[in-house]
Amino acid sequence: MSTPSTAERLRAAISGEVLVPGQAGYDQARQAWNLAVDQRPAVVVVAESSDDVVQAVQYAGTQQLRIAPQGTGHDAGALEPLDDAMLLRTSRMRGVRIDPATGTARAEAGALWRDVIVPAAEHGLAALAGNSPTVGVAGYTLGGGLGWLARRYGLAANSVTAAEVVTPDGRRVRADADSEPDLLWAVRGGGGSVGVLTALEMRLYPVAELYAGDLFFPIQRGAEVLDAWRAWTDTVPDEVTSLGRIMRFPPLPEVPEPVRGRAFAMVEAACLGDPGTGAELTEPLRRLGPELDTFATIPPPVLGQLHMDPEQPVPNEGDGALLTGFPTAAIGALDAVAGPDADTSLTSVEVRHLGGALARPAADETGQPTMEASHLMWAVSATPSPEVAAAVRRDARAVKAALADWHASYDYYNAVEVRAPASAVLPAASHTRLQKIKGRYDPDQMIISSHPVRPAPVAA
Ligand SMILES: Cc1cc2nc3c(=O)[nH]c(=O)nc-3n(C[C@H](O)[C@H](O)[C@H](O)COP(=O)(O)OP(=O)(O)OC[C@H]3O[C@@H](n4cnc5c(N)ncnc54)[C@H](O)[C@@H]3O)c2cc1C
Repeated sequence: MSTPSTAERLRAAISGEVLVPGQAGYDQARQAWNLAVDQRPAVVVVAESSDDVVQAVQYAGTQQLRIAPQGTGHDAGALEPLDDAMLLRTSRMRGVRIDPATGTARAEAGALWRDVIVPAAEHGLAALAGNSPTVGVAGYTLGGGLGWLARRYGLAANSVTAAEVVTPDGRRVRADADSEPDLLWAVRGGGGSVGVLTALEMRLYPVAELYAGDLFFPIQRGAEVLDAWRAWTDTVPDEVTSLGRIMRFPPLPEVPEPVRGRAFAMVEAACLGDPGTGAELTEPLRRLGPELDTFATIPPPVLGQLHMDPEQPVPNEGDGALLTGFPTAAIGALDAVAGPDADTSLTSVEVRHLGGALARPAADETGQPTMEASHLMWAVSATPSPEVAAAVRRDARAVKAALADWHASYDYYNAVEVRAPASAVLPAASHTRLQKIKGRYDPDQMIISSHPVRPAPVAA
């Protein structure tokens, strides 16, 4: 147990902060990006450096505290209660180095994607960031990392070349092609529940510009538009990553006037290659006659605006399901629970097109070597009150149930923003291997992760 006097010893040993309940600053330090989550850890450590992380992990060992590493708290909704745990925040560790000569980046564990994509773009390079520039590099990559370049370059986790980790016994370890292959494997999409990550190195890709944008159609045309989009995805090359979406914009002043308070069926897409080819590839969608068309040639950092995710902290809930197909019958089922006549609390229900590089085994061994599904459904909503949160959970479950006939054998790690074991969000073989690695590095289950994994006993 952490007490004020033992916490004092840790405070003296680190450059960052150590905060216990009742102390000024504790409430601010424990606040997750997801404002719906009220995490109340026994102690919060706000680390300034990897040295601080080593001290914090060693301290947790002496106090028998479990450790929940967290950068932003985007995924705090999935975590178990932290009452007896240390919340180890890396949010001040945001250093990023871009190496244009090798086409790689090194990001400290608290870096946000915008800390990487903006300086990378200055060298004509793109990282495999997700839809939101304020999501953390660490959590996103540990869970796979599905972004706008995914069908061409795969999951972000599969472009990780090295990781710096503090193991649960307080050792600082570098995992790369030559050392600690199991740790590297666990960081590459295995959820990383085997230590505290302090930095990641990753490959970047030469992308100066893309042709990307959103098409907005009246929600009444949802089934027709999703059907046409799905048929179109059968024809596109790996250079095109896209999603179909039913979106209800809230009637809030910060929402731009043309869409405020209105509901749409949408197609969003990013096309690598020259703008002429992008315009040609998206022409069949444009022929459907969208009400609004935002397609343009943009540099990679502007991709962060395409999906219109909130950048400021909000209370929210989300859940998703991997699908083995998205035929017309599935579109009808989705339209019934999320379309124009549905009484739903969900702001957004999207279906992402997978395949391409996501369907081909990654070059190196990783926790998610392929995505064994053709599509990903992801339902989310802001939850300004517990009543809305309950409705959103119910409605997200209804969407999953409606698509049950097309469910894959597991769900996508990052899209399951509710409590679920690692076995539900990783391929079965990966889960088995992760259990063995957990047994070797973290047999006492010190590290708390979004999706818990039970260690397998280590053979004598
Ligand atoms: C608005 C929004 C948009 C999103 N868009 C996408 C998207 O396009 N594609 C996609 O794949 N996902 C997306 N996600 C999901 C997102 O990738 C996950 O929620 C991810 O876990 C967030 O990472 P984080 O570091 O910001 O969050 P955190 O909540 O800080 O971290 C999440 C988990 O990662 C682990 N973790 C974090 N830091 C460390 C560390 N230093 N050491 C060890 N473990 C650590 C912990 O288990 C932690 O609970 C989105 C989420 C939101 C809310």
